[in-house]
Amino acid sequence: MVKETKFYDILGVKPNVTNDELKRAYKKLALKYHPDKNPNEGERFKLIAAAYETLSDPEKRKIYDQGGEQALKEGGAGGGGFHNPFDIFEMFFGGGGGGRRRANRGRDKVHAISLSLEELYNGSVRKMALKKRVICQTCDGKGGKNVTTCRRCKGRGMVMRVVQIGPGMIQQSQSACDDCQGQGESCAPEDRCKTCNGQKTVQERKVLEVHIDKGMDVGQKIPFLGEGDQEPGIEPGDIIFVIDEQEHEYFTRKGLNLTMKMEISLTEALCGFQRPIRTLDGRTLVITQMPGDVVKHGDIKCIMNEGMPMYKNPFEKGKLIVQFAVKFPDKVDPAVAGKLEHLLPKREEVMITEDAEEVIMEDLDLESEQRRQMRYEEDDNGERHYMGGDGHGQGVSCQTS
Ligand SMILES: [Zn+2]
Ligand SMILES: [Zn+2]
Repeated sequence: MVKETKFYDILGVKPNVTNDELKRAYKKLALKYHPDKNPNEGERFKLIAAAYETLSDPEKRKIYDQGGEQALKEGGAGGGGFHNPFDIFEMFFGGGGGGRRRANRGRDKVHAISLSLEELYNGSVRKMALKKRVICQTCDGKGGKNVTTCRRCKGRGMVMRVVQIGPGMIQQSQSACDDCQGQGESCAPEDRCKTCNGQKTVQERKVLEVHIDKGMDVGQKIPFLGEGDQEPGIEPGDIIFVIDEQEHEYFTRKGLNLTMKMEISLTEALCGFQRPIRTLDGRTLVITQMPGDVVKHGDIKCIMNEGMPMYKNPFEKGKLIVQFAVKFPDKVDPAVAGKLEHLLPKREEVMITEDAEEVIMEDLDLESEQRRQMRYEEDDNGERHYMGGDGHGQGVSCQTS
């Protein structure tokens, strides 16, 4: 038993979730609620990251399972607190180019790119505009004229401070140098570069053409190597786009297969029908069920080679799966019922004995029935106990002596 399930609930998983399931849940939700796509869901995005960060770390998960969120806050693991949710996102999706992270390299930036199923089927090119910092051309990234090494910190950017905190007790601490604001360099204000204000880099708007290949899937990464922020003396990181898929009006995708629901009338189910299906590349397919064959409610049929194209091999396609729902009429005119009886297969005779009791059949409200079932809870031995409710059954098992 776990103490609380909040983090599990946020990710929509059960407390016995495996690591793989956890990853899948995070991948789906983080893309769905990334502020690139959902600017109003920042808080949710943060919670999703915190939940994943905790549950994906065996140590933290153990602490959380035993003592809940409070125990995490008190616990020693990194003094509690969570990483920046974007860092978690970048760690999960980033690292394009496989472990290119080096000390002298800027960070990767990961963006979610939301695509329609049509775009993923047909392929497309998306122009994505983003802001990035580039080396200032005016000063060539130096920040100004006559830039010298800071005398106070000798270019380290950090200074040691010694503070007396009690009689005979001193404390040493390191902090950013005030003279150079931690830059390690100083430049007279009049010599500072006017273009970048001495910052060495300027912000620029950059448009990247993102090529979407046919058959790309959710979570797939499209990296732009070295397109991250520039900084003097540092190799820029990458920009990485991660694909998210928009919901489609009637198709849902699972790997190479597309699934759709199709409602047909009872007449069509019994007597055959024709229906058009609009494909993701704008063609119209027509399916025909000949009179004589019956489609039952819940029947599933498929059309080969009309699913999603395979990535890198787009002539190979999955299946289009059609799930049928038969719409029955609400009422049948008794006179019509009599005529139908003659046309439909003969009914089997039913024997009713004389002592049979006549009962009334009512409509069942499945939802409230499920709520009632919930009041039963299984105990550790798998026995069911009634947890109160309709005013009977309470305390029956334990009060007998
Ligand atoms: Zn300094
Ligand atoms: Zn400049």
